[in-house]
Amino acid sequence: MSDVPLSTLSTFGIGGRAKWLFRAERAEDLQDALRFVMREHYPFLVVGRGSNCLFPDEGFSGLVIHNRVETLKDVGDGCFEVSGGYSFPALGVKTAREGWGGLEFAGGIPGSVGGAVFMNAGANQQQIADTVAWVDYVDEAGDIIRLKREGLAFAYRSSSFQGRRGVIAAVGVQLKRDEGAAFRQQEMVAYRKKTQPYHDRSAGCVFRNPAGASAGRLIEEVGLKGKRIGGAEVSPVHANFIVNREKATAHDVIALMNHVRDVVAQRKGVWLESEIRCIASTVE
Ligand SMILES: Cc1cc2nc3c(=O)[nH]c(=O)nc-3n(C[C@H](O)[C@H](O)[C@H](O)COP(=O)(O)OP(=O)(O)OC[C@H]3O[C@@H](n4cnc5c(N)ncnc54)[C@H](O)[C@@H]3O)c2cc1C
Repeated sequence: MSDVPLSTLSTFGIGGRAKWLFRAERAEDLQDALRFVMREHYPFLVVGRGSNCLFPDEGFSGLVIHNRVETLKDVGDGCFEVSGGYSFPALGVKTAREGWGGLEFAGGIPGSVGGAVFMNAGANQQQIADTVAWVDYVDEAGDIIRLKREGLAFAYRSSSFQGRRGVIAAVGVQLKRDEGAAFRQQEMVAYRKKTQPYHDRSAGCVFRNPAGASAGRLIEEVGLKGKRIGGAEVSPVHANFIVNREKATAHDVIALMNHVRDVVAQRKGVWLESEIRCIASTVE
């Protein structure tokens, strides 16, 4: 498909047009796409559910590889083989309901499994890294290579995949028997609904928590809840969320991020770093 609005691929609902969009529905599609962009030296961008991305107003003049490869295999003893395009919250809900613990935090995180591994998604003292046994990765040659956990590096909201140019095709997760997982998950989702702007358009937490502090608390303490630039607003519900209140542009969001950073730096002496991926923007 050509000339596709990126806003339709993002939970923010923001972004200009992508020159080309390729929807991958099989692992082979991902391989074909990678081979094409590498051979042609063509700019590309991998997108899962677009729940951690701010796409530029100017659009993207390359190929967006939309990962919709959605398969799940239960291989026994709490081990699941899941494709990168599979819904992360659906995986969390299914496994918790079946009495497996480790991914119950995923219940309220609207991403894909590949995006979750790429970002090392986490909440409630859990992170996907703790469950990853291996990753099948489409490398720059278009080959699928199996990477064992021992060879992968994860840290707070980061993974070794952030420095590579391939696609997470599938993941093996190893979970532990835990009959309380489903109950805890319900509590986590209920808490999110109370404390986060769950029904507004956002990309989750905008800034990483600085060591020993909460970005949301710092932003709240400097009085920026409800601050608006254009159609973008610091959520009055949770200060580390910027929401698309009314036809916000990426420029509005970036201007608001920069304003928040400046005020927090001046008043608190802390420089906030972006957690959301600002595609071709000036904030990173
Ligand atoms: C309401 C809300 C609440 C959220 N709460 C949390 C939370 O509690 N904890 C948390 O960690 N995050 C949270 N997020 C952020 C987001 O949901 C996660 O980071 C999620 O894991 C991103 O997955 P995605 O598929 O949407 O990634 P995308 O936004 O599509 O992509 C994010 C990055 O990953 C790359 N990528 C995506 N898929 C692949 C792949 N298969 N291979 C290689 N690269 C890939 C993209 O190129 C991009 O750089 C929240 C977001 C929202 C909107």
